Amino acid sequence: MQQETYVIGGYVRDLFLQRNSKDIDIVTVGSGIDLAKKVAQNLHPKPAVTVFKNFGTAMLKYKNLEIEFVGARKESYQRNSRKPVVENGSLEDDQNRRDFTINALALGLNSVNFGELIDPFHGMEDLKNKIIRTPLDPSVTFSDDPLRMMRAIRFSTQLRFEIETKTLQAIATNKERIKIVSPERIIDELNKIILAEKPSVGFKLLEETGLLEIIFPELDKMKGIETVNGIAHKDNFYHTIEVLDRIAPNTDNLWLRWSALLHDIAKPATKKFVDGQGWTFHAHNFIGVKMIPKIFRRMKLPLNEKMKFVQKMVHLHMRPIVLSESEVTDSAVRRLLFEAGDDIDDLMTLCEADITSKNPAKVKRYLDNFKMVRQKLREIEEKDAIRNFQPPVSGELIMETFGLSPCREVGKIKDAIKEAILEGEIHNNYEEAYSYMLKKAGELGLKKKN
Ligand code: ATP
Repeated sequence: MQQETYVIGGYVRDLFLQRNSKDIDIVTVGSGIDLAKKVAQNLHPKPAVTVFKNFGTAMLKYKNLEIEFVGARKESYQRNSRKPVVENGSLEDDQNRRDFTINALALGLNSVNFGELIDPFHGMEDLKNKIIRTPLDPSVTFSDDPLRMMRAIRFSTQLRFEIETKTLQAIATNKERIKIVSPERIIDELNKIILAEKPSVGFKLLEETGLLEIIFPELDKMKGIETVNGIAHKDNFYHTIEVLDRIAPNTDNLWLRWSALLHDIAKPATKKFVDGQGWTFHAHNFIGVKMIPKIFRRMKLPLNEKMKFVQKMVHLHMRPIVLSESEVTDSAVRRLLFEAGDDIDDLMTLCEADITSKNPAKVKRYLDNFKMVRQKLREIEEKDAIRNFQPPVSGELIMETFGLSPCREVGKIKDAIKEAILEGEIHNNYEEAYSYMLKKAGELGLKKKN
């Protein structure tokens, strides 16, 4: 079987950038499916070749690589869809439909041209100069498939490349076209930006091009500084993306990074200037919690325990700060541990990232205080095991002891026991909780059943 064949796109780009890449795209002038089957006769992959007949592509796994085979194609676009009309084409046609010059590089795989680089758009030069640029007119490229605007910003963030001026301008000009892209594709790119080493690069570009206002208006609204009586509040957009950058080295958990992005999301909605107090953002954590389901639903993010985790982080994000500003008492630490449970470490990581003051003395003071809070958390946890609090005396035992059926008194006694533990009046164990239950029941006029 003699067929003109190349390795193309992301794999070639990453090869020159010395980035690890496990997806190999093979383009061939002819049938990609036939070529994959032929290759499989030599490699014997398990499982066998997977054929996607509708797309005319085939994929096989070899060692830890995923190799995709596709026939070279030519694409043309209609105005209302990012799905092109596709026909068979040459390598040149195939390179013309690629999004960026650095993604259009191809290496020959036939014996006559093995290893030869085919680089019609000077992608190597752009790789060297760290430039993102479209091969053809950027306005046409972005209007044809507006997802490419998100991809440009995502690659710029991941690779720390500059987007060439004309390409960047074309994103701003075509920003409205993003509306024809499905939320699922947008969020894929946004999550990759959030998971990058320095996510603020991407968010600044999204803001600058006007895409942010369309895809994430709540975040866009956080921009800006207002001054009343000479008192200004900080720019909450820049603060937020700085917190995201600060948390990045400490966690690759996408949901903790989302928590950083959303921790102050309700500041614009709650902002008020109060004489004598200055700027206040009263209950912005609670309002933030309420805003999250709508944002997650619109962006097609999961509405499950991942969202609940983000809500919990946003709800509690001021607690460690407030705690460390006053005297760090055991009972305050116990209460925080009770509410945060197993997510306490993530909460502390978020709060440490939230300290973005320009005053180094202030930063040091906060971080020192947090060290103390963390130390206290460890001590209390060792003593009282509050993290996964289970009531040491159950409702059933209370009912049985006093011959009660389910009623308000049972709840009152249970609550009183929990409060006594959190306040440090008694330890978190059965014996102390049992005697406390007897005492509390006595106060309520209940008598022990014989
Ligand atoms: P990553 O693996 O980081 O997502 P990648 O470049 O491999 O990077 P893929 O989405 O796997 O990204 O795409 C593979 C190749 O297909 C790209 O390098 C590019 O040449 C081409 N490509 C992907 N999406 C588009 C698009 N929307 N428009 C034009 N070309 C695209």
